[in-house]
Amino acid sequence: MPNSISTHVVIQAGRLADGLGGAPKTDQAILVTADRITAVGPKEEIQKQTPPDAEIIDLGSACVTPGLIDGHTHLSLAGDGRNYAEMFADTDEMMVLTGAMNMQRHLAAGITTLREHGARNKIGFTLKEGLSRGYIPGPRMLVSGRPITCTGGHFHMCNEVADGEEEIRRSVRRLVHEGADYIKIMASGGGTEGTIPGLPSYTTAELHAAAHEAHQFHRTTAAHCRAKESMERAVQAGIDLMEHAEFLDPDDQLRFDPKIAEMMAESGIWISPTLQAWTRYPRIVELTAKRDTGTILPEEEVELTQLEEKAEMRLDVMRRTLDYCLQERIVPGTDSGVNNLAFGHLDYDLQLLVRVGFTPAEALVAATRISAEAIGLDDEIGTVEPGKIADLVAFAGDPTTDVKAFSRVVAVFQAGRRVA
Ligand SMILES: [Zn+2]
Repeated sequence: MPNSISTHVVIQAGRLADGLGGAPKTDQAILVTADRITAVGPKEEIQKQTPPDAEIIDLGSACVTPGLIDGHTHLSLAGDGRNYAEMFADTDEMMVLTGAMNMQRHLAAGITTLREHGARNKIGFTLKEGLSRGYIPGPRMLVSGRPITCTGGHFHMCNEVADGEEEIRRSVRRLVHEGADYIKIMASGGGTEGTIPGLPSYTTAELHAAAHEAHQFHRTTAAHCRAKESMERAVQAGIDLMEHAEFLDPDDQLRFDPKIAEMMAESGIWISPTLQAWTRYPRIVELTAKRDTGTILPEEEVELTQLEEKAEMRLDVMRRTLDYCLQERIVPGTDSGVNNLAFGHLDYDLQLLVRVGFTPAEALVAATRISAEAIGLDDEIGTVEPGKIADLVAFAGDPTTDVKAFSRVVAVFQAGRRVA
């Protein structure tokens, strides 16, 4: 929906939270030339430098922030409650259509950049190509293509199975050749039938082979690490970003380990805790809304209590992890697509970060400036500053003081163009 043929756009807003972390500034304007931000400041000051042909967009009292970044998505999966076997029974063609739907949902929710964390065959690459040709709207996208996994391992149905260092190096080369922007590897079991989430699936040497080969091609690595032992190995192997970080033991219990948290802090590894995924948070939100409106059934009341108790166990592990000065390394990610995790809800992860001790303002910085740095795009996006691409979101209310405001998107801009 291009709404502008002018090369200059001025976006005015009651508040601006620029992603750098200070308190939001009031009565601000952003001058955009072509796709980049060229000036930011008080409305009257920007007015003086505004070219006469500029289009003016006044967002009233809304709060403008950098576009949000979701570090962890599975575009080919619908997040409609089906299990992996049922979702992967879909054809590749149906999965591409699912991806097109999901991209639009995320964009409308203010998520202007995402990482596609693993799909079958060529689906991830196809979606990125469709986006770059302008066939389908969607967030700016980095793709991993297919996740590397061991024989019978988590997501083996995506068809990038590799065992041993040699095969892993070959997989990295193949993925880079096909267009992977980064490498995703499954370092432990997961929700895929036949795998054990609490057990590691690769040796340290195998993970190191993946990281070493990826780095040769200037690609970063993200490792799926639910098992505690896989977390330790990922750090030792030089993996760049750790997904989930649950401290899960083989008996399926979460047991925080300060030694591993200390290793994580020392190594500087990025961490994407995917909190809404583990806590089944969309269901908690649904049931809480029913409770608040007095329409909850007795059995649902019981279910909500159980879900909340279980969620607390995960959130407690997260709080203890954050005690190790790891807040600046946290990259919010939704894991959208799997289980009941529908697209369009990074707001849920930001709510959960606030529950583990972030302020809403810190949650915003995590989902913008810090995430941009973690995925290697901090020269281009993540803050509202001159020189950056004009990916912006506007919210009703002030998300730096009220985390619920992240759910009230009023406008989305991509490279200076209003898209929602
Ligand atoms: Zn995932």
